[in-house]
Amino acid sequence: MESQNSSDLYVWTDQRCPICEKKPDRFVGKRGGVSHREGLGVECEIWRCTSCSLVFPNPMPFPKNGLGQHYDVDADDYFKEHDTEGRLDGAKSLLERAEKILGHKGKLLDVGVGRGETLVAAKELGWDAEGVEPSSTFADYAEERTGLKIWREPIEDSSVPDNEYDVIVLAAVLEHLYTPDEIVRRISQALKPGGILYLDVPNEAGLYFRVGNAYQKLRGRDWCVNLAPTFSPYHVFGFSPKALKKLLAKYGLSPVYWNVYPGTSLVPSRGGVVGLLESAASKVVTGISSYGEMGTYIETWARKA
Ligand SMILES: [Zn+2]
Repeated sequence: MESQNSSDLYVWTDQRCPICEKKPDRFVGKRGGVSHREGLGVECEIWRCTSCSLVFPNPMPFPKNGLGQHYDVDADDYFKEHDTEGRLDGAKSLLERAEKILGHKGKLLDVGVGRGETLVAAKELGWDAEGVEPSSTFADYAEERTGLKIWREPIEDSSVPDNEYDVIVLAAVLEHLYTPDEIVRRISQALKPGGILYLDVPNEAGLYFRVGNAYQKLRGRDWCVNLAPTFSPYHVFGFSPKALKKLLAKYGLSPVYWNVYPGTSLVPSRGGVVGLLESAASKVVTGISSYGEMGTYIETWARKA
């Protein structure tokens, strides 16, 4: 569901930094509605917590009808632009990496199962696997596809056992959720000592975002390109390497693998000269950002002490 252009569809609440518990102290820019080049979503103010560099809207627009307002769509529709075989191969190589780091297979929990590719791969490779998925659309789909146990509740309130899992996977999920601190706390609790968490998030301190924001400034706008709180893909919290390390450390998780990488360009191609220039510039940025920690995505494996 794209562009619900009404602020009435949201409850607006003061948002503190969930990691530092402080009020965000640097204004980054406006995002959405009249402050979006295609008018998507509703206008928000995006702020940064300078203690950890996390970025997020303040006030936070929370969907009045719950997460279903954003995500309650047919699973095939939601993922139709993704290639299923590719996702399954990706899931398999992720689990092979898990086995290498851990030294063995074991019990796995996939948080936010989507269409269930990670669970399908886990089952095929002989892991003991379960999923957590609050959306009944996705939970039904994954359960039917894999026959595995799906906990139908948000991870932060979930009744999954403590000290139980060797591996927990949180792929492309954390940036979508409204309580990232609670989620990492609950995951750490559910891991066995020595167990490992995989997570990946966009790097909102990467070159793509820096150049995008500088470009808006050059055009005389107080807009930013961070996050997408009220339109697809609904990113509400924006991590940097610093913010993510601080959040992991808060719950006893130490990175044993850390990769900041360029990935594919985030800018969809658009017609016209400006569109062409924007997309060309974004390709250059994507290329350059493979240096240092300027890449557009962060992925890590972190171990519980
Ligand atoms: Zn902070």
